[in-house]
Amino acid sequence: MSRNPEFKKKPPFILIVDEDASRRGLLVRAMQNEEYGVFEASNGEEGLKRARECKPDLVLLDADLPILDGFECCGQIQSMMGETAPAILMMIVGNDNAAIDRAFEAGATDFLSKPIHWTVLRQRVGRILASRWAIAQLQRQIQREHLLTEQLERANQQLQRLALIDRLTQIANRRYFDQHLSQQWNQLAREESSLSLIMCDIDWFKSYNDTYGHQAGDECLQTIANLLSDSVKRAGDLVARYGGEEFAIVLSHTDTKGALQLAESIRETLKERAIPHKNSPINDVVTLSLGVASMIPTPKSSANKLIAEADDALYQAKESGRDMTCLAQSTAT
Ligand code: GH3
Ligand code: MG
Ligand code: MG
Repeated sequence: MSRNPEFKKKPPFILIVDEDASRRGLLVRAMQNEEYGVFEASNGEEGLKRARECKPDLVLLDADLPILDGFECCGQIQSMMGETAPAILMMIVGNDNAAIDRAFEAGATDFLSKPIHWTVLRQRVGRILASRWAIAQLQRQIQREHLLTEQLERANQQLQRLALIDRLTQIANRRYFDQHLSQQWNQLAREESSLSLIMCDIDWFKSYNDTYGHQAGDECLQTIANLLSDSVKRAGDLVARYGGEEFAIVLSHTDTKGALQLAESIRETLKERAIPHKNSPINDVVTLSLGVASMIPTPKSSANKLIAEADDALYQAKESGRDMTCLAQSTAT
């Protein structure tokens, strides 16, 4: 039989367990002629010990052994080594059916009749090793595919995350905001609970960029994004970059009073942060204008209504002088 060329690179190991020293010698030579690595043992106990130490690919195991017979030894090798157990080729006198049955029941891969037919031995050992090698290859391939699938899934998750996160500020982007708001709208419509939206826009930000440069403008946007994220504590709430220098905060289970309080506290905290804005017409630090709208969603209307109202309120805040919080008209009444 043609040998697996891979065996040249890494020869399989064979453990020969036979009490009969002259036959053992012949077996050792026959297997060495096939260029396998060979270990030997003269009884079942020693066979077990050698199997544990040498981790052979195949054990040529005589059924008639002293101390621990071949069938016992075969079973113990399997239970001791589990998935890494070697193939076991049992040597049995003649064609003793009862012994053949016992060998297979003990977990032997195949059997060989004594006296040994040397060609049959070579062929059988070669075939068993070749099929073990093919199975191991297949398992390695399956493992590689599992690994690849896992990597692909991780990359996909990362991609999905990136698609929802604003690159500059690392907070939710407009797409994430749209998804979250509409999902919260539907949920709170079922629960008949309040949903609030705060729209915030940096005052005189064009002039900030003109004064300090675009890079400083980016850093200012990052600082404000962090400040907003730190102000919002509850799990269902979301801070998003709505557009250029405009941010949106979605507050679930929050009524007008709660949303107004948060908006004012954000406005104050930003002023305390005192980011210089020497050319602002209204202050010498960066300020925010905020519009607040609250409603209990209904299944018939859409979240666009809430956005429009918060936008109107923000417009009012700008119109009324900036650096202030305004409440949407319909919410206020
Ligand atoms: P107002 O108080 O009316 O909001 O005045 P404003 O200057 O803030 O508003 P305007 O809409 O005139 O200008 C917004 C500025 O925000 C202009 C734009 O360059 C700047 N901006 C938008 N996105 C970014 C960004 O990603 N980085 C930087 N540095 N600036 C940005
Ligand atoms: Mg602005
Ligand atoms: Mg704006």
